[in-house]
Amino acid sequence: MRPDLLKIKEVALIYLDRSGGLQKFVDDCKQYNDSKQSYAVYRFVISINPSDIAELDAALGNQILHKPMKAAQIFQSVCFIAIKTLSLIEQLQTEAQINIVLKPTHLPPLPSYVLSLCEFPLDYISQRFYMSEGIVIAMGTVMKYTQGARFLCSEETCPFSEGFNYIRVHIPGATESATVRNDFVCNLCASPLREDMKFRVLGDKQLVEMIDAKSLSAFQGYSNNKQHFRIQSFTVFLRDELSNKMKIGNRYRFIGIPACIQNCSQVTVCIEVSSIQLCSTSCIRENFKYLLSLTSSSCWRFTAILANIFASQVVPPGTYSTLKLSILLSLVQTCDRDKETSDYLDLLIVSSDTLIADR
Ligand SMILES: [Zn+2]
Repeated sequence: MRPDLLKIKEVALIYLDRSGGLQKFVDDCKQYNDSKQSYAVYRFVISINPSDIAELDAALGNQILHKPMKAAQIFQSVCFIAIKTLSLIEQLQTEAQINIVLKPTHLPPLPSYVLSLCEFPLDYISQRFYMSEGIVIAMGTVMKYTQGARFLCSEETCPFSEGFNYIRVHIPGATESATVRNDFVCNLCASPLREDMKFRVLGDKQLVEMIDAKSLSAFQGYSNNKQHFRIQSFTVFLRDELSNKMKIGNRYRFIGIPACIQNCSQVTVCIEVSSIQLCSTSCIRENFKYLLSLTSSSCWRFTAILANIFASQVVPPGTYSTLKLSILLSLVQTCDRDKETSDYLDLLIVSSDTLIADR
């Protein structure tokens, strides 16, 4: 083994030990071992703190952030040696049966790690981690996908007609047909491979449609100065433990690997999510939330109460409610945080009352 590869594997093991990941891994192995069931693949989730690992070894930290698939192979090898040395899973036979999923706790807060879906070109070929943000607009039900499958050579005399040599594992961005198909051939004798169906491992997947938060301005009725704009949603994949972790309407910050999926003649960019964080963008005060909960029985009561008490110092409550409501609406959508979309709702007020001010 190359000395640098050996060193990087040592570092991976040291990291697992120090971060508590090794104990979790041993516990996961125990569950598999106790089940006595033989699987095509054994899936292990390893949580990675990029700052800690970069401090331990910059090369490994760099690899995890920029080449996560390669980094997963290092952990795969380390985990296989650990399983074999400590006899953790009796049923396990080959290294190919270990499926390592690396999940970074965060990414460095630098622009090169942010994927903005409003900006082009998008990097969807380097298969590395990015963080992004979006609002959920639609979601599908939880479905099954193939986490891993075992293939055997159909030629009975071939040594690969048994054993666990041909293991196919789902990788980020791969479609179902990339993992399981019927046109694979044996490397040794070129006979067709057939899947050993009883070993197929299924996982959960959920497709979620998201839009960039900036698109909301289009729904808020801004008289946008730009002549043309287009709202494009994007698909994110939530797999296994992340299924059902998002809700429609919520805004999430997430880390994932962008991928390009070819489906017939269509090519779509999607993101395989590895961690999710709910964004609390709400700066609404508690008493407002309480008022909203009290008036939730009617869709107009909350708004009517707000309009009624608005500007009560200058206008007596109960008068000019429609006008006050219009001004409130204008204020709500006048946002100076986002210069690009800030615009005003124009009001034309016709009245005989000299106290009414217009803008
Ligand atoms: Zn063969």
